[in-house]
Amino acid sequence: MSTVIPRQALAPEPAAPVAGIADDSAPRGAAPAPALPVVSGTPLIRLRGVTKLYGSGQAELMALKGIDLDVSAGEFVAIMGPSGSGKSTAMNILGCLDTPSAGQYLFHGAHVEALSRDQRARLRRRYLGFVFQGFNLLARTSAQENVELPLLYRGESAALRHAAAAKALQSVGLGGWEHHTPAELSGGQQQRVAIARAIVTEPAVLLADEPTGNLDTQRSQEIMELLRGLNTNHGITVLMVTHEPDMAAYAQRQVHFLDGLVHSDAPNPHPIPAAE
Ligand code: ADP
Repeated sequence: MSTVIPRQALAPEPAAPVAGIADDSAPRGAAPAPALPVVSGTPLIRLRGVTKLYGSGQAELMALKGIDLDVSAGEFVAIMGPSGSGKSTAMNILGCLDTPSAGQYLFHGAHVEALSRDQRARLRRRYLGFVFQGFNLLARTSAQENVELPLLYRGESAALRHAAAAKALQSVGLGGWEHHTPAELSGGQQQRVAIARAIVTEPAVLLADEPTGNLDTQRSQEIMELLRGLNTNHGITVLMVTHEPDMAAYAQRQVHFLDGLVHSDAPNPHPIPAAE
């Protein structure tokens, strides 16, 4: 299945407002815009000369020193590198949570670095899903309600939220666990809830930051199988930070950061095959 991006997001330049991303005035819960398939070969994500400077004066630190990165729709990319090499900084920029100090970030041709905070938030809500090492679930809230949350922010109706969350939980193997709170679930199950929450909005891109960092080997492999299935069966582009070579082995491509730069960027010739 190919990833589809609503027509509004395809305008190459945001100088003229890109409806749907570039203004926040569209009614919440409005019917989705007509969708176009992503043109094969067009990078969904393009970073060009991206730098990130933290602090000033003596405390100045260049966390990214000029990153170029293209990611096509449907790729599964592992981002690796030692602590402090700039992986999280790059993910924050890719996830529209932060902006580059210089350089360009194009999301399907739209210049993200030129968008306002609200416009970036809109892009994030529509196209991006996030999975974190610590799951980041609301503690005294059921799995179902945790997964419904992004749809609540979007202003979707209770009926739609309920149906979409139940479907997302089913797709991560948690059908029947809807009413359990995080404390009643194992770590692996909690991460599944977090993944369901990330995919309930049908994002084009899933950004996963050390998604298996808190899990044992068996649970980690199950989560990786799940992420790979979302990539291959649902066409979701996956960008995953990991320091574990065993987890990066699931990705089709491995990008290594070193000292604020992309040190290497190569296809993985033998990704771990799907379990029978
Ligand atoms: P990684 O994810 O590879 O461990 P980071 O992107 O977190 O690397 O950090 C890159 C560098 O930027 C590190 O030297 C880190 O200390 C610094 N850094 C990260 N975030 C901030 C911040 N908010 N303020 C100042 N320095 C930061």
